[in-house]
Amino acid sequence: MGARQNGTYPGAAALRWTAVPTRYDLDRDALVARLAGEPRYRVDQVWDGLHRQLAEPAELTTLPKALRARLDAELPPALTPVATSTDRRGDTVKWLFALDDGARLETVLMHYRDRSTVCVSSQAGCAMGCGFCATGQAGFQRHLSTGEIVEQVVRAARRARDDGRRLGNVVFMGMGEPLANYDRVWSAVERLHGDLGLSARHLTVSTVGLVPGIRRLAGEALPVNLAVSLHAANDDLRTALVPINARYPLSVLMAACADYLRAKGRRLSFEWALIDGTNDRASDARELAELSRTLPLPAHVNLIPLNPTPGYPTRGTPRDGVVRFRRWLDDLGVNATIRRNRGTDIDAACGQLAARVELGGRTRVTAPAR
Ligand code: SF4
Repeated sequence: MGARQNGTYPGAAALRWTAVPTRYDLDRDALVARLAGEPRYRVDQVWDGLHRQLAEPAELTTLPKALRARLDAELPPALTPVATSTDRRGDTVKWLFALDDGARLETVLMHYRDRSTVCVSSQAGCAMGCGFCATGQAGFQRHLSTGEIVEQVVRAARRARDDGRRLGNVVFMGMGEPLANYDRVWSAVERLHGDLGLSARHLTVSTVGLVPGIRRLAGEALPVNLAVSLHAANDDLRTALVPINARYPLSVLMAACADYLRAKGRRLSFEWALIDGTNDRASDARELAELSRTLPLPAHVNLIPLNPTPGYPTRGTPRDGVVRFRRWLDDLGVNATIRRNRGTDIDAACGQLAARVELGGRTRVTAPAR
């Protein structure tokens, strides 16, 4: 569990290691060490049970009772469900989880016609300070550990299986800026690929534009998808919406994106939360098209109307404005998709999860963020 800190980002030093490793914090070698004294075939059964069968230790009835009890005691789960909500059609499941120190995070599972996708959080809160984002408005609590990220996926995969589906896609677009928690996020990517058997091509890491992280990503062996939460294609507006743009302006960001595309040949998407009268004008579409043309491969733009947040006085672009913006992009030769709003439209961008306000034991969705 050696951790390198990403010392240049706000909140980077705030990772709080839990005193006891949780169930999915251990890689295979660490599990072997942790279960020293158990025969190797037993350790293999435990590994297979946790990662292939997605089982709780109590469900692993091929193990002796004493070992199941030991697993429960020594490898506790990281996440405690606080609230779960399912939409009317049963195709979106949202969890609010508590961590052992009281921090909270959200995870969303979405069933589409042809696939099931989970959107995971990478931090509790976020330090990036995007004003329109409910997560950003609430501030940063801490980084999530690798196990806390992987367990979100395991729980979603279990639920997908119960729904008769198979979880195939993971997007790091929940709470937090994934590249500000690079080491734990990348370790989770490797574990999802190697231990849970998910294809790297079905894993998407989003960022608000942390250029050093994009450059590190370009040097990794696994070819994951990159999603950049752009929201504006000129520096003045983007800095107003996404403060990190002051440190990594668009010219620097686009150069990193171009290098990523050259290195990986993977899909790049731009996420664009449409804000009424702010970034949904014809001039915004033109600027976006011009920016896209600087890349060696075309980017795909995902459009999502911003839902209102209590701390941000503007509203999302109405439906007809969204359709018009897409048509402008179309005319300019830019591929764009209007993302369906599922209350929290998770395809949209990192941090798009709703802020939940607990109301007498219930939760209600107040807003998606970025
Ligand atoms: S939009 Fe993303 S990066 Fe910005 S504050 Fe929200 S979660 Fe953080």
